[in-house]
Amino acid sequence: MSEYDLIVVGGGISGLSFARRGALQGWRTLLLEADQRFGGCLATQRYTGAAEGYWTELAAHTAYNSYGALLELLDANQLGRLQPRHKLPWRVWDGARLQSVFARLHWPSLLPALPRLLFTPKQGLDLRAYYGRVMGRRTYDSLLRHAFSAVLAQPADAFPADLLFRKKPRRQDVPRSYTLNGGLLGLAEMLAATPGHEAKAGVAVECIQREGEAFRVHAGAASWRCRHLALAVPAWEAARLLEGEYPELARYLQQIAPAEVESLAVVVARDSIGLPELAGAIGIDQDFYSVVSRDVVPDARLRGFTFHFRPGRLDRAGKLARIAAFLGAPPEAIVASAERCNRLPALKAGHLAWVSAVDRLLSGERLALIGNYFYGVSIGDCAERAKAEFERLKQRTVSATTSPSPSGRGQG
Ligand SMILES: Cc1cc2nc3c(=O)[nH]c(=O)nc-3n(C[C@H](O)[C@H](O)[C@H](O)COP(=O)(O)OP(=O)(O)OC[C@H]3O[C@@H](n4cnc5c(N)ncnc54)[C@H](O)[C@@H]3O)c2cc1C
Repeated sequence: MSEYDLIVVGGGISGLSFARRGALQGWRTLLLEADQRFGGCLATQRYTGAAEGYWTELAAHTAYNSYGALLELLDANQLGRLQPRHKLPWRVWDGARLQSVFARLHWPSLLPALPRLLFTPKQGLDLRAYYGRVMGRRTYDSLLRHAFSAVLAQPADAFPADLLFRKKPRRQDVPRSYTLNGGLLGLAEMLAATPGHEAKAGVAVECIQREGEAFRVHAGAASWRCRHLALAVPAWEAARLLEGEYPELARYLQQIAPAEVESLAVVVARDSIGLPELAGAIGIDQDFYSVVSRDVVPDARLRGFTFHFRPGRLDRAGKLARIAAFLGAPPEAIVASAERCNRLPALKAGHLAWVSAVDRLLSGERLALIGNYFYGVSIGDCAERAKAEFERLKQRTVSATTSPSPSGRGQG
């Protein structure tokens, strides 16, 4: 049978958590993912060969106990699998030396600016305008703009200030920051294994059609029909899928530009480098935004580092040379490596007005749009958007007393 209450397109954390909600609601749910594996930006590389049993993260690396909309989807067993990350410092790297982040604070301008934290609203301001004001321009330019670019894996000046560090309640029964044994991909694996929903990998959805109140989703020769549709793909992909049936929504989605980051992870023998243990390093005017270390989940034999490079600057040899300089070891010390090109939305100040406009267009529709281009880019932001959109669809179903049930035939 190829008729569903809900089809979710895209099997990253947004789509996985939405599909889990559908299954828990008792909806007949189908999740379609283009890649051969679920997870999207939960992209743990698990090694074989010389680094057998070791893993590094090629995108997201840390989750927090403030990710409530995600954590509420995990049962007690799954919560028990969350592994606290060791507390280690972040450093800055200027191409020659590692320094403490405090070394780059400009105290004479920082101290007088700090009281402005109390009465400067973030709304409508970008990171440069807001933090330049409340932390002082010198500290912003010498440290914060690099730190924010490291956090966001893209140039950060124009990013909306009100979407970073939103205050959220923290769960006290969960480690403050955590990963899983085997990396964050484990989160995707737990959610993909939800009983009650069907999940198909290797299915790239090509087009979407409306059929009365329902939808038909096409991939190659196959098609499926559903009462509710959730697009959990990047904004530019959602724009393409909606161009024919929802041109106005598509025009909004086209406004979100992608920011690319070229991520390269390397594994070295623990005794082959003398680098002190660290959580990661912020690149100061470097070819990479950041280096994220695996030291937070230590291993007796190996150490791993993922470098998030600015796009289009260096070939692989050039990247390995930068990595060797950072590690203080020749490229031959690398026993394993892995690469991935990631794309994140480049959001701009005033983005919440864009979200409101899109939500107005969605209201009354059986279509949900979810992803990292609504409330922020973190895993927690994605799960929060998925929850809000699921509640909207559920509410619509409950209140639509005359809601038609799916009809017509499909081919699976
Ligand atoms: C380098 C980097 C570091 C990060 N670090 C962190 C961190 O430490 N902590 C944190 O909270 N967040 C972090 N993030 C952000 C976070 O990982 C992502 O924003 C989030 O995982 C995005 O999830 P998503 O499901 O919305 O999108 P994605 O993960 O992009 O998933 C979208 C999925 O849709 C699929 N898809 C696309 N088109 C189609 C189609 N036509 N048919 C079917 N499937 C399709 C894709 O294959 C993909 O699997 C990081 C991101 C990056 C890139």
